[in-house]
Amino acid sequence: MSEASKFTPRVFSGIKPSGGLTLGNYLGAIKRFVDWQDAGTHETIYCVVDLHAITVWQEPAVLHAATREVAAGFIASGIDPVKSILFNQSQVSAHAELGWIFSCVARVGWMNRMTQFKDKAGANAEKVSLGLYAYPALMASDILLYHATHVPVGEDQKQHVELTRDIAQKFNHDYKVDFFPETAPVIEGPATRVMNLRDGTKKMSKSGESDMERINMTDDAATIAKKFKKARTDPEPLPETLDGLKDRPEAKNLVDIYAGLSGLSAEQVITEYAGAGWGKFKPALAELAVEKLGPISTEMARLMADPAEIDRILAHGADQAREIAQPILDETYRIVGMVGR
Ligand code: ATP
Ligand code: MG
Repeated sequence: MSEASKFTPRVFSGIKPSGGLTLGNYLGAIKRFVDWQDAGTHETIYCVVDLHAITVWQEPAVLHAATREVAAGFIASGIDPVKSILFNQSQVSAHAELGWIFSCVARVGWMNRMTQFKDKAGANAEKVSLGLYAYPALMASDILLYHATHVPVGEDQKQHVELTRDIAQKFNHDYKVDFFPETAPVIEGPATRVMNLRDGTKKMSKSGESDMERINMTDDAATIAKKFKKARTDPEPLPETLDGLKDRPEAKNLVDIYAGLSGLSAEQVITEYAGAGWGKFKPALAELAVEKLGPISTEMARLMADPAEIDRILAHGADQAREIAQPILDETYRIVGMVGR
């Protein structure tokens, strides 16, 4: 990225209001967003990506509430609307406009390689929405509309951020410009892929079928304790070294979650709990999760009681986002050859 210096150091990331926030969203995404904001080295832009949510059916009233809930989750976790730009995607129409242009840049063959589409569509690929298939082009637009240089995401989104780079490169190449940056995915921390509590081969998702497979950020202490207690594990105690977690996905997941919540490394967690059985480790993990998530969910509930204030924050964020996005969209249209810009 020899040209990187011409782009303002800028972070963009988003979360879909496709359900309640999970511990996976918190450890893989939101906690990292707060770290980037507080580091102060980059402008930080965070988005509730409601246009992405409707790639699968959303009941309008539920989507409405979930959008505010995700915004409340961001703020309660430490996103400060003064330090970061926080808004919901549909309020900035430039996302959809640039998304269309990128749909014309991206190749069908690229989309066919997206593993998340294959996972989500499953055997049902003929029946899912066109939007679900095309959504990585809209995601590229979300990022490149701000010329974002860094995108903190969980491991599952790596392929889509790489596709964003491919789209930027192809656009720059086809139009003979150096207009869009090559954005870097940033996948950091001990819990970049939190797994489903009932099936260690699948990631934890807010849209997953059963509530028992995930920890919601709004779960109360008793629910958190119950879910960890029932989490699937093998019968072996925790190993003496990190190596001993190989081929033990469920055990590794719980250790990674403990590390993500405590700020320790997985190795430090293993050292502390070497040889411990699940009867000891699971209650300790539940206690730690309640200690970390409890204050956040209390604050979320307080914020949710005043939806007008959340809406005001999102509207203000959308104004700020538009100021950055509009000139970039206008220039894109000019480069493409559209009349009137
Ligand atoms: P859905 O099931 O609707 O896709 P989701 O839980 O996967 O919901 P997204 O809105 O798709 O959430 O993703 C928001 C952010 O959270 C992304 O950066 C994604 O990588 C991250 N993320 C999602 N699930 C996990 C997980 N299990 N572990 C770590 N990070 C995750
Ligand atoms: Mg997802």
